[in-house]
Amino acid sequence: MKQKSLLAATDLCVKCGLCLPECPTYQITLNENESPRGRISLIQGWASGDLKASSSLHRHIDNCLLCRSCESVCPAQVPYSRIIDEFRSLAGKGPQRVATKVTLLVSRAVLINQGISRLASRFASFARSSRVLEAISKRSRLTRQLSTFLNDFQPHTQRKTFYPALSANKGCVGLFTGCTGELFDTETIDASIRLLCRLGFDVWLPPEQSCCGALDLHAGNTKKAGMLAATNVRAFDRPELDWVVTLATGCGAMLKEYPDYFPRTEELASKTVDICQLARKVIEDRQMVLRPLNKTILLHAPCSLSNVLKTADAQKDLISSIPGARVEILDQVNCCGAAGSYMLEHPEMANALRGKILAMVRGARPKYLLTPNIGCAMHMKAGLKQIDMATEVIHPIVLLEQQLTSGEAI
Ligand code: SF4
Ligand code: SF4
Repeated sequence: MKQKSLLAATDLCVKCGLCLPECPTYQITLNENESPRGRISLIQGWASGDLKASSSLHRHIDNCLLCRSCESVCPAQVPYSRIIDEFRSLAGKGPQRVATKVTLLVSRAVLINQGISRLASRFASFARSSRVLEAISKRSRLTRQLSTFLNDFQPHTQRKTFYPALSANKGCVGLFTGCTGELFDTETIDASIRLLCRLGFDVWLPPEQSCCGALDLHAGNTKKAGMLAATNVRAFDRPELDWVVTLATGCGAMLKEYPDYFPRTEELASKTVDICQLARKVIEDRQMVLRPLNKTILLHAPCSLSNVLKTADAQKDLISSIPGARVEILDQVNCCGAAGSYMLEHPEMANALRGKILAMVRGARPKYLLTPNIGCAMHMKAGLKQIDMATEVIHPIVLLEQQLTSGEAI
């Protein structure tokens, strides 16, 4: 999309305003420039040459979470997220604080480069055990952000590339682990491998797979995102794979939408399936029994699940089928504020949005808060820690696997 086609895309908006009540940043600010309609008008003005890309114009666009709640109610089907991505790709992002820039640079390098991530993992273990993190976190905004990022780092896990099915064979899957998952959520990867093998799948973990590219795409770096997409296409180019299973819904949404941005990605996109969706189908087919659990569980549906994948029913059905579980669905809340790197770039807005979820956790006092997206999990975990709540934040698959099986070693 060039400037002219970007203008044509913004012209699709009929300015009806139906999207405004759905927009989390508009709900908080009540400012038209912080709404979908307002942002589209600003980009329209820039693309037509009437407005300059001033820092205040950039600020309003950058404040968008890309949660896509607006898209899901838009009668004119305005391709809102593509408009934002294209604007950022053509005009870049606005000025950022030094602390934010450094945190983003470090976190990107760590997430994308395996060598750097191993080094960072060792440094994080040392810093935690020697209390360095605690000490530096008090020094400045930058050290606070970096220490929060490093605090949840998990030790590097050496995995096999193949795990055979443990019951009657249902097929062969490739597991997309995601860059963030490998560094911050090895528990979900381990549980997913065990569950998929138990359900009858051979599981491949191609070591060449990389970050899905969502962070780069949404930061306006379309070229880099395209290179990551091409790496993943090569990594999962195996005719024996029936499915490519994603664990984080943010990555799943990105893989599913590759063809909207990058050529020769259709096959990977068509094989991509969210783990809860696949697990529900097999568990229903086999009428597998889950062990009872007499606990309260809050279930969170990330924006990537509700507004892009649109398969939130799968996790709801799976968790509701645990006998004795009191499941409450967090469906009265908007975006939790994590939104990829948004929580690092806009901590004030991210924390304000998280507040509603924390209040619900305080009221329900659940044993578990389940969310299938690692970014949301990290953001909510940090909030719960601040208010001293012991609720465990885990992926629905971790709980499901715990209730389905005693857990064979992998
Ligand atoms: S993507 Fe979300 S935050 Fe951005 S304009 Fe749409 S509803 Fe608002
Ligand atoms: S709902 Fe769609 S058409 Fe209406 S103002 Fe929002 S983006 Fe424009």
